[in-house]
Amino acid sequence: MTTYDVLIIGAGASGLAAAAAALEKGARTAVLERNDEPGRKIRATGNGRCNYSNVDAPRSAYVVDRLRQLAGIEPAVEEGRIYPRSFEAATVAEALAKAASGADMFLGTKAVSAKKDVDLFAVETEDGRSFVSRALILACGGKAGIQYGCYGDGYKLAKAFGHSVERPIPALDAMVCAEDLEALHGVRAQAKATLSKESGVTCGGEFCSIYVTKDPEGSAVGKTPETALPVSESGEVQFTRNGISGIPVMDLSRYLKLEAGSVFTLSLDFFPELSAEELDGLLNERKQSFGMGLKGLLPEKLAEYIEEPGKGRSAKDLCFPVTGTRGWKTAQVTRGGVRLEEVDPESFESSLCKGLYITGELLDYDGPCGGFNLNWAFYTGLAAGGSAGKEG
Ligand SMILES: Cc1cc2nc3c(=O)[nH]c(=O)nc-3n(C[C@H](O)[C@H](O)[C@H](O)COP(=O)(O)OP(=O)(O)OC[C@H]3O[C@@H](n4cnc5c(N)ncnc54)[C@H](O)[C@@H]3O)c2cc1C
Repeated sequence: MTTYDVLIIGAGASGLAAAAAALEKGARTAVLERNDEPGRKIRATGNGRCNYSNVDAPRSAYVVDRLRQLAGIEPAVEEGRIYPRSFEAATVAEALAKAASGADMFLGTKAVSAKKDVDLFAVETEDGRSFVSRALILACGGKAGIQYGCYGDGYKLAKAFGHSVERPIPALDAMVCAEDLEALHGVRAQAKATLSKESGVTCGGEFCSIYVTKDPEGSAVGKTPETALPVSESGEVQFTRNGISGIPVMDLSRYLKLEAGSVFTLSLDFFPELSAEELDGLLNERKQSFGMGLKGLLPEKLAEYIEEPGKGRSAKDLCFPVTGTRGWKTAQVTRGGVRLEEVDPESFESSLCKGLYITGELLDYDGPCGGFNLNWAFYTGLAAGGSAGKEG
């Protein structure tokens, strides 16, 4: 049986980056992937355009440079978001697979257990094969996007080495509301969206139990480490039959931790540039002069919904009780995972087991929309692959 220098479980963003970095060090490398193709999820990212980094993401320059060196991925920047120059996600998946092609790639191969005997790791697969290596990289992702092969296998594998896992929660997802929103289905509008806890209760000063994980350099990504609700994000919101989506709502979903008894409210302000008095004045003027209020200022269905007689709805504070997110199929990232304190912040080597590395979404890290999550997957994969490859 071949003893590999580096064995990687998962051929997603972080696993392929890790393989390319390990191969660069001359390590004999193998990758196990349960799907029958590498990089399946990468192809679906960024609406097929793969927003793989962001100028504000930690170590983004490093990620961009290394992906250019190792895989020939040239960047293009659009409002701070970094895409491949082709604006085609498939080209990123293909370039990475090519950069990792010096590794033995075992597709359709699901790892089911892993352990370390003295100096060597032994991994068993569902079809009864065994793989042996000096270093092992768990790059199995989280649970978001189960249709891309992510069932949370990595948590079990990491726990077998004594790691603890922060409860995985679907994040960057549409929110589901208690109300029937059929009347608004398909409407898109610019709004300032605010998430608060407990309907009708002032949330200022109350701390949500969710906090944004820190990056290895210690600076919080996007928000302060503990964020007091309410939290607001602005941009285009989209209504579905039973919920609300759009980038600001998806970003806010990272703060939702629905526990028994917790009630969250999403409030939409369609006129953040005006005070309530200014908006009232404008609407009264329009009604007197033109016989219409919100019509012409907002999409028609939305204007009619807000102005429905007897409902007392407001275009500055349109409130929806939130019952949850849509779930693992539509969530783009997993909040929670293997605790960051249990890996080295530079190499992502486990502090509990020498030679074991944990990367990407499997770790307890998540960022907002805009390239932060792929940047993290690539950064951790490149760092772990380089370090594990050196040991070989
Ligand atoms: C629809 C969608 C769009 C997204 N768009 C963006 C975007 O534009 N920008 C951004 O920054 N982020 C985006 N994300 C998030 C980003 O794709 C992930 O954070 C990132 O892919 C995580 O990389 P990873 O390598 O850790 O895990 P994954 O990419 O999930 O890869 C893990 C791999 O491990 C394999 N695997 C799992 N278990 C086993 C096992 N037991 N044995 C063998 N193989 C196994 C899986 O099949 C998978 O291929 C998006 C996510 C989704 C779902």
